[in-house]
Amino acid sequence: MICVDLHSHTLMSQCGIHTHLEMLNAARDRGLAGLAITDHGPALQGRLPSPVYERLDQPLPGIRLIKGIEANVTDAEGAVDVPAWLLPMLDIVLLGLHVKFPRSRNDADWTEAMLTAIRRNPWVDLITHPVDENFPMDIERLAVAAKALGIALELNNSKVLYKRTSPERVRRFLDICRETGCRIAVCSDAHTVSEIGGDESVRPLLEASGIPESQIVNATPGMAFGFVAARRAARLAHLRATSAYDTTSLIC
Ligand SMILES: [Zn+2]
Ligand SMILES: [Zn+2]
Repeated sequence: MICVDLHSHTLMSQCGIHTHLEMLNAARDRGLAGLAITDHGPALQGRLPSPVYERLDQPLPGIRLIKGIEANVTDAEGAVDVPAWLLPMLDIVLLGLHVKFPRSRNDADWTEAMLTAIRRNPWVDLITHPVDENFPMDIERLAVAAKALGIALELNNSKVLYKRTSPERVRRFLDICRETGCRIAVCSDAHTVSEIGGDESVRPLLEASGIPESQIVNATPGMAFGFVAARRAARLAHLRATSAYDTTSLIC
């Protein structure tokens, strides 16, 4: 079981079916210390209601809500669908490939689009399901870039559980992560309450990989909350320094 799950969806995502409170309740019942709710961005018709980010303040004792988004790379130039007003309020920013778009380079390889996106948007914390067979990436190049930026690559339980990738592909992914030393986050990508905290499809692969606990950002609650806090602080500092977003006068 994952102690702090950094990737889950509610019915604010088109693919989700439960409310925030239902997801948090289930996470608490399973003994998790924290749950990141990371609904999809507008490119996947996700709803991101401002009261969730502005007003919902730790609604359940005994479980920490981490407010996030699973954003999308939306074009080959590295654009992402994080609304400007939302960015300063996010505890964690996940980024993944879900939307097909035309690219000038090799169609079998989505690496360049993702690399461009994380360089253009240096406040991304975690790249979701890099082993998704629908969006093949050069994991070696991705891991080197992620390590340099402090970004974690996700070990996604659902993609293995529902056969959107193969154990062999995951093994290769873990070997590259071990060799490059890039950070890993073990996440459920839960869409139902029963999936929260689930790692049964990837835990044996992780244990066989020889990757040390120190490389896993959510190996313990302290490490997970520390990762989220440090990344959020760095994001806010970056936003203030670049004046790309007004972090003092948010209108909702
Ligand atoms: Zn995803
Ligand atoms: Zn997801």
